[in-house]
Amino acid sequence: MDTATANKQTDTPQKIAVIGAGFTGLTTALRLAQAGHDVTLMERAENLGGLASGFTLDSGQPLERAYHFTYKTDTENQKLAKELGVADKLKFHPSSIGTFYDGKVYPLMTPIDLLKFPGLTFIQKIRTGVVALYLQRVRNWQKLTKITAMDWLTKYNGEAATKVIWEPLLKGKFSEEHYRDVTMAWLWGRIHVRQVSKDKGEVVEKLGYFDGSWSVLVDGYEKKLRELGVTIKTSTTLEEINYDAKGQKPYVVVKGKKHSFDRIVTTTPSNVLARLTANCSQMTKKYADNLNSIPYLDAVLMVFTSKQKLSDYYWHQFSDKNAPFLVLLDLTNLTQDADETYDGNHVYYIGAYPAKGEELFKQSDKQITADWYDGVRKMFPEFDESQVQEAHVFKYIDAQHIVTIGYEELIPDYQTPIPGVYLSNFTQIFPEDRGINFAIREGEKVANIVLDDIK
Ligand SMILES: Cc1cc2nc3c(=O)[nH]c(=O)nc-3n(C[C@H](O)[C@H](O)[C@H](O)COP(=O)(O)OP(=O)(O)OC[C@H]3O[C@@H](n4cnc5c(N)ncnc54)[C@H](O)[C@@H]3O)c2cc1C
Repeated sequence: MDTATANKQTDTPQKIAVIGAGFTGLTTALRLAQAGHDVTLMERAENLGGLASGFTLDSGQPLERAYHFTYKTDTENQKLAKELGVADKLKFHPSSIGTFYDGKVYPLMTPIDLLKFPGLTFIQKIRTGVVALYLQRVRNWQKLTKITAMDWLTKYNGEAATKVIWEPLLKGKFSEEHYRDVTMAWLWGRIHVRQVSKDKGEVVEKLGYFDGSWSVLVDGYEKKLRELGVTIKTSTTLEEINYDAKGQKPYVVVKGKKHSFDRIVTTTPSNVLARLTANCSQMTKKYADNLNSIPYLDAVLMVFTSKQKLSDYYWHQFSDKNAPFLVLLDLTNLTQDADETYDGNHVYYIGAYPAKGEELFKQSDKQITADWYDGVRKMFPEFDESQVQEAHVFKYIDAQHIVTIGYEELIPDYQTPIPGVYLSNFTQIFPEDRGINFAIREGEKVANIVLDDIK
């Protein structure tokens, strides 16, 4: 238990509901239960972990549905892994990035790689190198909140290099509809962390992954929560959050039935909270509008295993405006354990973030698989589908929010206008990109706010 929470041990336990069992909800539930409260954790999905939840390959090995790694600077992850007794499973491996350009994959990790990259002129390469260096070193990100990434990059990196290097990445991450709106502060957060997470003199970054997948950490939480007496209700979708003014308690509605609590912490996406509280008279228009003002994207992921090694890189991105997806990963090129852990198979991930209403999210798993195999063939003509052992498609709603100019003004408060109801989710993380490390930090933060209020 962290010391702040330890000092808040209570003699009068409160009945608290935590909604959503991603890393924010798991951490909130853990800290509130450790402080002696009677916690119920409710999750819509059938398992815990949220966007980082796991599944098991037909061949028996655990994996996460969406690719996840951690930086060395993600200290919250490391602290939790230690507290839950799984720190020895977290290993750091040298990363490798290739970018697909003009029919080939080129390395894009070091200044030498950049100099050899054929997609830019010498002057454009120097300018790109200087811009990358500047973004890695600059600490004053506040001024970058006032300009979009596309405008800033076009101004400082030039139009041609922005089109080749940055635009495909931003478009892939934020969709055709939204990529022009993203603030430069978000991109700064992504680039800066890559520099600060390197050890002194380290040229190639190292990324962390749990032996046995992130399920190791999720299972650690579950074990601890059960030991602490937390009631865990999976496959439980909230239909409403409201306030009983007479009884002076907030309540949730599940399958049409009311359940009252002293306090409720919701870690669902903001738009979900707005929907759940639509009939609550304590909710203000201002807060609800605020919740609805942050647009989200969904995510589509495919995991497949194959005996075939397609490249030497872990991460494959695109310098190509017709990219078939955002990213292709070979997890086993990071962990170097295809043989011992995955029966000689490589584990590939493909990912994309469609905007709301985009065709991709509606397509059948079969269609997505067929289209994305075509995309892999475009990158690697030797790709042999007959060597694929198994393939799985996963879809997540509200997987990434859009960080626009003036985003700071949109971040919702932890305390909602409904007495005893709190919100903690990844839209409150800024300027850092959302990630498990910060989900843990947010979970700690909201638990401390609740404990202070109880005191
Ligand atoms: C493709 C992809 C790759 C990523 N890669 C990385 C990475 O490499 N490293 C990293 O650190 N992070 C990564 N992330 C981000 C990371 O997964 C998230 O930041 C983190 O998991 C968010 O946790 P959370 O608890 O805030 O939200 P979530 O995990 O979204 O949890 C919210 C929970 O609320 C539940 N819920 C929603 N509505 C209801 C309802 N009505 N009733 C009950 N429950 C409900 C949801 O089912 C969900 O489980 C990635 C995310 C994606 C999508």
